[in-house]
Amino acid sequence: MTMAVLLAAVGFSCVKQPDTSAIDGWEKIGEGQATVDPGESEDPDGSKDPEKPNPEDPSTDPPQDEHWFLTRGVVCGWDDVNAPKTLDYIDIARKHGLNTFSIYGAPRGQQVWADFENDCARYGIALEYEEHMMSFLLPRNLFNTHPEYFRMNEHGVRVEDANGCPSNKDALEVVYQKAQELGRNYKSTNHKYYFWQDDGGGRCYCPECKELNASDQALIYENVCIEALKEIDPDAMLCHLCYATTTDPPKKVKPKDGIFLEFAPFYRNWYYPLKDTWVEGVNGMTHAKYLKSLHDHLEVFPVETAQVLEYWLDDSMWSGWNRSKLKEVPWDINVFQSDLQTYAKYGIRHITCYTAYVGPQYVMKFGYPDFLIEYAEGLRDFVKE
Ligand SMILES: [Zn+2]
Repeated sequence: MTMAVLLAAVGFSCVKQPDTSAIDGWEKIGEGQATVDPGESEDPDGSKDPEKPNPEDPSTDPPQDEHWFLTRGVVCGWDDVNAPKTLDYIDIARKHGLNTFSIYGAPRGQQVWADFENDCARYGIALEYEEHMMSFLLPRNLFNTHPEYFRMNEHGVRVEDANGCPSNKDALEVVYQKAQELGRNYKSTNHKYYFWQDDGGGRCYCPECKELNASDQALIYENVCIEALKEIDPDAMLCHLCYATTTDPPKKVKPKDGIFLEFAPFYRNWYYPLKDTWVEGVNGMTHAKYLKSLHDHLEVFPVETAQVLEYWLDDSMWSGWNRSKLKEVPWDINVFQSDLQTYAKYGIRHITCYTAYVGPQYVMKFGYPDFLIEYAEGLRDFVKE
């Protein structure tokens, strides 16, 4: 996610407007979710709640499946994890409870990567690959011979700048074949796949597509890809990303079995918790709008598999995607812990977060990033209120 738009993030505004909520009824959002523990009011100290570790017995970590957050992940680059003497991600995961890595830029085919994969397997860390894949699913060079595979812009012109025309059946056949190729080349160890649309890319406005919103159009491709992936990995699951252009849920297309939601609140404000609904991030996105978006998405996608992709620790974003000008992560554990409660209230049990640029250079400049440990332990030790 390397959008220049977030350069504007430094200009966050936070105008408290207690009398004029951006979304009517936001106060009730999350309160009535079916996934909220039905007995929580009868069990104020949590003593009957199997999700809560017994404070009398601190000697043992609960088994992984007793943690509220089943996925406790990070997304970062090979450059970030490839200096274990300075910053050892695998050691942090082992000792503090992370269990999922998504690594981009890995030196595939080299022994050093094979060793990393083996270490992850040894310590029970899943490896997956969260990437913008549309230009691999529908190669741009097909535009020369098949412009109809590609999107029609608002002016009625076919363009190959991003994504495609999901109403074109022949293009979907290409996507099907390429999805299998990608699934084999980027095989995850947890059966979860991420073939995101182009970053900030436009949608198709052709006569057949124009009534479909960007999320509908993404989902058409994803429904094709999950069928392709299941042929090579019967337990495959594929992400539908709620992100920049797909913040609104799909309206006309339903997800096939195996599609899971990934909610990435890219325009929020990280100086304030999500529960501060009046806070505004960028592009007019208030926290209230994001919580409504999450609520609406969970009407379409199963909550059991829904995942959040956060940016609390995304130093690539905080540094304006300029590794030569690293800035310090404005980590606020109180915001983080509040956000975990908010997500848990909606029933979310899968969390991952960018930690891009939190690597050896970061340590040299700012010292050891204790926030990685606080993040890992915050997820591992989380107790739902
Ligand atoms: Zn179209």
